[in-house]
This record gives sequence, C-alpha cells and structure tokens, in this order.
Amino acid sequence: MTIAAVRTHRLSAPLHTPFVTALRRTTTIETLVVEVVDRDGRSGFGEAPQVWQVTGASVAGSEACVRELLGPMLTSRNPDDLVARCVEVDRAVAGNEAAKAAVDVALHDLAARRLGVPLVRLLGGTALTVPTDVTLAAGEAVDLASAARQRRADGFDVLKLKVGTDASGDLDRVRAVRAAVGPRIRVRLDANQGWTPREAVRVIRNIEDAGLDVELVEQPVHRADLDGLAWVSDRVSTPILADESVFGVRDLVEVIRRRAADLVNVKLAKCGGLRPARTLLDLAAAHGVGTVVGSMMESQVGVGAAASLVAAQGTTAVSDLDAAWWLAWTPVRGGVRYEGATVVLPDEPGLGISSATEVKMQTRG
Ligand SMILES: [Mg+2]
Repeated sequence: MTIAAVRTHRLSAPLHTPFVTALRRTTTIETLVVEVVDRDGRSGFGEAPQVWQVTGASVAGSEACVRELLGPMLTSRNPDDLVARCVEVDRAVAGNEAAKAAVDVALHDLAARRLGVPLVRLLGGTALTVPTDVTLAAGEAVDLASAARQRRADGFDVLKLKVGTDASGDLDRVRAVRAAVGPRIRVRLDANQGWTPREAVRVIRNIEDAGLDVELVEQPVHRADLDGLAWVSDRVSTPILADESVFGVRDLVEVIRRRAADLVNVKLAKCGGLRPARTLLDLAAAHGVGTVVGSMMESQVGVGAAASLVAAQGTTAVSDLDAAWWLAWTPVRGGVRYEGATVVLPDEPGLGISSATEVKMQTRG
C-alpha cells in the first residue's frame, strides 16, 4: 500500500466573536488543510493555521512547503510506516512547523483510518471527551466582565483572560472578571509577551495581594527573554506557563535548564505535529514541568488532533482547545464538536473528518 496523492485546501471561515490578544486581532481563521490519500482512496487530514505574529506561518508558505517538498517526498511511500514517514517529514525542511504539523497529523489520521480506529486509539487512549478552557478576548474591564458572564452561562468553568495590552489596567480587568463570575470559576491569564519582566512581577504580585485567585499566567514576557521569564517565575507564587518561548524540544530543554517556567503549552503548529508533541509532553513530565496542550486559531482538524493527544496522554492542567468553538461556521465536514466546556471527539476512524471543502456547516444552533 502506498500514498497516492498529497493535496492542499485553502480554507477560510469567520469567527462569531473577534479574537484579540496582545499580539493580534482577527475575525477569521485562515488555514491550510493537507489531505494525504492512499491507493484505496482513504484520506487523512491535517492543518497548518496561518499565524503571522506567532509562528510566522502563512497559508501560502505552508502550501508551497507541502506542494513542492513534503508532498512529492511522500508520494508512493508506505503510509503504515508512520514513524519513519514522520521522521522524514521532520528532517526534510527547516522551520515550517505548521506545514510539517499538517502533514504529520494527516499521516496519523490516515494510519488510524486504515486501522478503522479513532485517532485517540492510535495514540494509546480511549477517552472521547476532553475538557477545555475558553478565551476572553483582550478588552476593557466592563466588556471582559460581560464576556465572562456569557462564557460561564455557555458552560465554561475555566476562563483564559487575554491581558498584556496595557499593564496599568490589568489588575482592574482581572478584578472585574473575578467579581463577575464568583469564586468557583477558574481564571487564568495570557499576557502574550505583553509585559516587561518588571511589569509582570508588579501586576502578578498585585493580583496575588488582592486575593483574585489566578490559576496561572501564560507567557508574561517576550518569547526570547528566557532570563526574564525565569526572573518573573522566581518572584511570584502564581505558576508561570511558557507558550511562545517553547516551540520544540530544544526550547523546552532550555526552559527546564533555567527553571524558567512551571508549565509548558504544547501546540502542534509550533512543534511540528503529534510525534514531536508527544516527545515534549514526555520531556516535561520527566522534569516535573506541568503541561497544557493548546492550539492556534484553527478548525476542527487541528483541534481534533490536539484533543486526541490530550485524550490519550493527558495534561496536568485543563487544556486550551476552544479555537474551533469560535467559528461561526466550520469549513470542514465532521470532526470534534463542543458540549459546554467539553470537546467531544467523534467515535469514527481517524479524526472523523469526511471532507475539507468549504461546506459552511453551522457550528451552533
Ligand atoms: Mg498563549
């Protein structure tokens, strides 16, 4: 059995609510879905989201990488030698983690379909539900409080508040959200590199002194400033989660070596797919570093793969898999769905995606 074709699909879908962070504002998901087809006509899907400000990946760049290099390399090869194919993909090109993740996930999806099992089974688990947090887009305190109440009513009990756009107002933002949702909802922050180390320590200590019970703070300082990240971690009690500072294994080794963070956010589009993501989760666990699996703003394809990984391997804190929840309609047919704060994996072979054309499926009633 061999791989017959590797296809790419450019997809675009609107969000029902603008997604705003310290790094960017977006109202659509722009993404590349990769389809690896075997000689029996079975397809495996994977996704390379465009995120100029975080990974630097673009739809055009990922498409070129797959069409010119990874696709031709895989054609006529045996898809059942999954590890060998994924190693070849990883070694074939520098950078391009999103494109490599899309191909790695498509190969895993195809392998699971060929065995007739959900992707989570291929990864060594059986759970078909995974809890997720939900993000509150960066904004003013009054709007955040209102969004927090809505998300609680939607069934979410872990809220991730985007801060870091204006350090002087961040304490009031957290105070407003805590007042709006009460003590039982978990609140975590993501500054997306928006603070200096001194601002981070000041804001986090103020939040601690105010008793606002923040679970963790994600990426307080610039991604390259590991000394700054370690400096912040040393000076606050609240756990620090590294996101943009850790793409691959080498980055995580450096964070571990410097004790720069308490947890790491593993994302397929940063590390290059399921195979490297499993390595990162194992490495973190071996060194007592906590874990979250997240995603970029992407569709049911990428979120399904990340959720399958969490369902199989677990994380130490609730994962960050709400991306596809933000879609006004989904650009693919099938895949994960949301029930309140739960990501539900389909009990179907692979990711359960049946097509990746622009079908405009409604995501919510
Ligand atoms: Mg983040």
